[in-house]
Amino acid sequence: MRRLAQLLAAGEITSTELVRRCLERIKETEPELNAFITVDEEGALVQAAQSDERRARSQALSPWDGIPLAVKDNISTKGLRTTCASRFLRSYRPVYDATVVERVKRAGLIIIGKTNLDEFAMGSSTEYSAFGVTKNPHDPARVAGGSSGGSAAAVAAGQVPWSLGTDTGGSIRQPAAFCGVVGLKPTYGRVSRYGVVALAPSLDQVGPLAATVEDAAILFSLIAGADPRDATSTEARPFALPAWDPQVVQGLKVGVPEEFFSSGLHGEVEAAARSVLRSLEEQGAVLQPISLASNEYAIDTYLTLVTAEASSCLARFDGVRYGERVPAGDVNTMFAKSRGAGFGPEVKRRIMLGTYVLSASHYEAYYEQAQRVRTLIRQEVARAFAEVDVIITPTTPTTAFRIGEKRNPLEMYLSDLYTATANLSGVCALSLPCGSDARGLPIGLQIMGNHFQEELIFQVAHVVEANVERVAGFEL
Ligand code: GLN
Repeated sequence: MRRLAQLLAAGEITSTELVRRCLERIKETEPELNAFITVDEEGALVQAAQSDERRARSQALSPWDGIPLAVKDNISTKGLRTTCASRFLRSYRPVYDATVVERVKRAGLIIIGKTNLDEFAMGSSTEYSAFGVTKNPHDPARVAGGSSGGSAAAVAAGQVPWSLGTDTGGSIRQPAAFCGVVGLKPTYGRVSRYGVVALAPSLDQVGPLAATVEDAAILFSLIAGADPRDATSTEARPFALPAWDPQVVQGLKVGVPEEFFSSGLHGEVEAAARSVLRSLEEQGAVLQPISLASNEYAIDTYLTLVTAEASSCLARFDGVRYGERVPAGDVNTMFAKSRGAGFGPEVKRRIMLGTYVLSASHYEAYYEQAQRVRTLIRQEVARAFAEVDVIITPTTPTTAFRIGEKRNPLEMYLSDLYTATANLSGVCALSLPCGSDARGLPIGLQIMGNHFQEELIFQVAHVVEANVERVAGFEL
């Protein structure tokens, strides 16, 4: 991104040219990929012309003024259709911008369009989108991951230099791993959720996806920080781009949780992760075996909480407050018909599960129990971070799977086996590429850091990245 910023600053390229380059690339690749739900060609060109005018007057809003960005379609964009990949919201246009959108616009970024996702961010493959599946740019027979599959594929295919996604249980990191790009799930509360359509408010975070660690860090610096409109955003903790320091790994204590290297983990993924660990050790890091035994319960706990929270958040989609209405003789039938027609099968499944775990007779057995296990998981992660600086694991047990391969929802839920723990405990975690398997599919490495340790995990990722071949990204 530094290069694009320099070219823009030197007047060697204009924002209009950059936007046209992205639009061309989108036209070439989109028929196969399907990474976007909406491409705002006209709006992007208008924004680009404004950016070029600002540059001409030496009034650039930031070094990144004029650089295009794609935004996941569950993040509100004023006047620009925001569907959550649901039939229910297929023509919904928000009347305001999410805080993260406001912030990137304030830095002069150009919103090219809205990317595909699993409906309401429920899923791990974008196969649950009402707008068709997003293909993996490395193999169109495979998924791009999810739920931020469109945001990851768009960056990997070079349609845009960077994008925003959301991560509730792994939805930024897993598609980043499958597509060979970098993705960060920030510390809970570090980025405002205002204007982001909630899946599970106690877990959701917005984060950046980009082709390099530094680009992800730059985008994160633009969106991080407290927001009075989100009560869960924490006190002002802006993030400044660090001076990259390879010495950071000297004496760095790297926790390696045995449970993340056990059954179900694909051999090539394991080998790639272990080879990074060895190389860090050679560079002066100290590897420390740790135990995160409670990870065994992470998926069950996550699903209980996510379905409970989702079922209550989705109550607002009723054909009156939000969503397309199916008319009926009385109000309850109208609600039922509208919701029946608007929601897809996975969303309905989660609403039913969530309503069940919250029902008076089962609340204690499921929801309360899950809250207790969540506390145990959080405590275990805290104990680990009392001993180590970062925790390194594979991001996913396998590389990208084939479209249609996971028919059983339970199998799909297991995609989040290594990622949900960071959401349940609120810590930050990123995924970056660390090689490819024999088919040429990217492999992702997860680096987890304690609360507010984004700078440290970016620094470590930057060191790892130096030894890994870049597999994707935007070219001029
Ligand atoms: N795959 C997970 C799920 O289906 C995570 C989704 C997310 O992070 N938004 O819930």
